[in-house]
Amino acid sequence: LQRLKRGLGRSSTKLSEGIVGIFTKRRLDDETLDELEELLIQADMGITIADEVTTRLRKTRFGQEVTPEEIRAALAEVIVELIDPIAKPLKIDAKLKPHVVLVVGVNGSGKTTTIGKFAKSYRDAGLKVHLAAGDTFRAAAVEQLKIWAERTGCPITTRPTGADAAGLALDAYNAAKAEGADLLLIDTAGRLQNRTDLMAELQKIVRVLKKGDPAAPHSVLLVLDATVGQNAHAQAETFRDMVGVTGIVMTKLDGTARGGVLVSLAERYGIPVHAIGVGETAEDLRPFEATAFARSLVG
Ligand code: GDP
Repeated sequence: LQRLKRGLGRSSTKLSEGIVGIFTKRRLDDETLDELEELLIQADMGITIADEVTTRLRKTRFGQEVTPEEIRAALAEVIVELIDPIAKPLKIDAKLKPHVVLVVGVNGSGKTTTIGKFAKSYRDAGLKVHLAAGDTFRAAAVEQLKIWAERTGCPITTRPTGADAAGLALDAYNAAKAEGADLLLIDTAGRLQNRTDLMAELQKIVRVLKKGDPAAPHSVLLVLDATVGQNAHAQAETFRDMVGVTGIVMTKLDGTARGGVLVSLAERYGIPVHAIGVGETAEDLRPFEATAFARSLVG
């Protein structure tokens, strides 16, 4: 919890200082409620949440003096109600051998790092994990995943730069199956500047993987960088429409004041959030827990 609190420090500072600024020695009235609504929108929570919080406060506390703590508690309550239903760890189906997870997202969002972190945590939990370096466009991405493979002791399937990612994914599937792996984590390229090519590539990976297992990929994980703020919505829509998304990991919640975007994403799409990244090391992938997140976010 301490690590999560530290990670979300900038988001929570912005919110809590804003709340103190609005409500110190002032009543809850039209003016302060408007200011609160504006603060929540600025903090990337989205209009629906901002509206819900202010409507509730208006009903119960209008005209009264309220402390910043009471406002924070009310805000945390609304956030928990909203995110609790979508806070779900990534469940690996032990019968699949391997459970195939396709990891998608724009370049730089943290896909490779997140795969490394997941590999570590599932390995530590006793699962056999296989990695696939499917971002065949960037040599650096392959090298980075190789380092994680070494660090975590997981076998990895690679191909030279520019090779067909779909073929690589199927190779990786076959290798994972032969090893009796529980989990196959497939990295992908994220060149959003060329949407048509990216869509064709992701769809081809899905199509070719089905030669291995008609139900694969069993999970499609979208990695979103919190620092992009509301842009995360556009990314979520793009990838949902391209390949479908079964779960989200939001990275870089440390060092950004835009952590509220996770709340507006939850409200808008209702896609499960499996974990959050609050730093670059393996320990910095945290389970996404509604109460802990809400408390850390509101300060
Ligand atoms: P990819 O292009 O989507 O595979 O992104 P990478 O995994 O290469 O990550 C891009 C950069 O973000 C790297 O420098 C990572 O170390 C960094 N990164 C990833 N996740 C986090 C996080 O949760 N917090 C912070 N601070 N940095 C992160």
